[in-house]
Amino acid sequence: MNFFSRRAFLALACAALADGTEPIIDIHQHTNYHGRSDDQLVAHQHTMGISKSVLLPAGSKYGLAAGCGGNDTVVKLAKEHPGMFVFFANELPDIPAAKPVIEKYLNAGAIGIGEQKFHVECDSPAMCLIADIAKHFDVPVLMHFQYQTYNLGFERFHKMLEKYPTVNFIGHAQTWWANIDKNCQQAVLYPKGPVTPGGITDRLLSDYPNMYGDLSAGSGLNAFLRDEDNARDFLKRHQDKLLFGSDCEDTAGAGPKCIGSQQIATVRRLAPDPAAVRKMLYGNASRLLKIT
Ligand SMILES: [Zn+2]
Ligand SMILES: [Zn+2]
Repeated sequence: MNFFSRRAFLALACAALADGTEPIIDIHQHTNYHGRSDDQLVAHQHTMGISKSVLLPAGSKYGLAAGCGGNDTVVKLAKEHPGMFVFFANELPDIPAAKPVIEKYLNAGAIGIGEQKFHVECDSPAMCLIADIAKHFDVPVLMHFQYQTYNLGFERFHKMLEKYPTVNFIGHAQTWWANIDKNCQQAVLYPKGPVTPGGITDRLLSDYPNMYGDLSAGSGLNAFLRDEDNARDFLKRHQDKLLFGSDCEDTAGAGPKCIGSQQIATVRRLAPDPAAVRKMLYGNASRLLKIT
């Protein structure tokens, strides 16, 4: 960005902040999340102040362990609310339907693959198939890392980043966020207390241009609130690689039950400057997902 366009951008950003209309992209929401209705989801996103939301469908089984709706439900809601929602495509990676189903929905307008939340090794042939599809369609893959439960073998994930340098991966969930800490105990999913920089997640974000982080859920919020001094440095260091997502299942869209609105406030409070806030709440997602 040259001086004049940067100045124009900052002026616009300040004007938007002043009247409360700064656009926010939420990269992580679900239909039918623990039974929440479409109307309740739409109201939740409006209350939280979201301009555009990415709907992540479940595969044909398991409902992402939260009753979430599948591909058809996200296509339907996006069609009913033009401009408000975009959607990803999903399927279990280790069944024969994976390739035809994911390709069908990518051809129908999906802009990514996920949420991949299945009991497979993160560098398995099944996940290589997912990466191959993502490479062909030039879309990112959003992955839920949870120790011994989903996308196992996080310490080997760098091999996937090296094998698929043109595929962008978005890391999410407990094991992703616990590993900002170099002293992470893998069995502890919501660790508390001070963070020592240099954990696996910190290194992946620093070392691989195709690795991004999804700020959503209790795990994302915990990662920053457990050690705010570290969080300030982390947000400054990775401000070009972090994307706001909510992944919250409440109907309020504000207050203590709404993790997404708390994470927006946390990013605003701990980010180094307004330009970094804009990147993490909007610009990075807009660029990575080609959303305007
Ligand atoms: Zn989710
Ligand atoms: Zn919420």
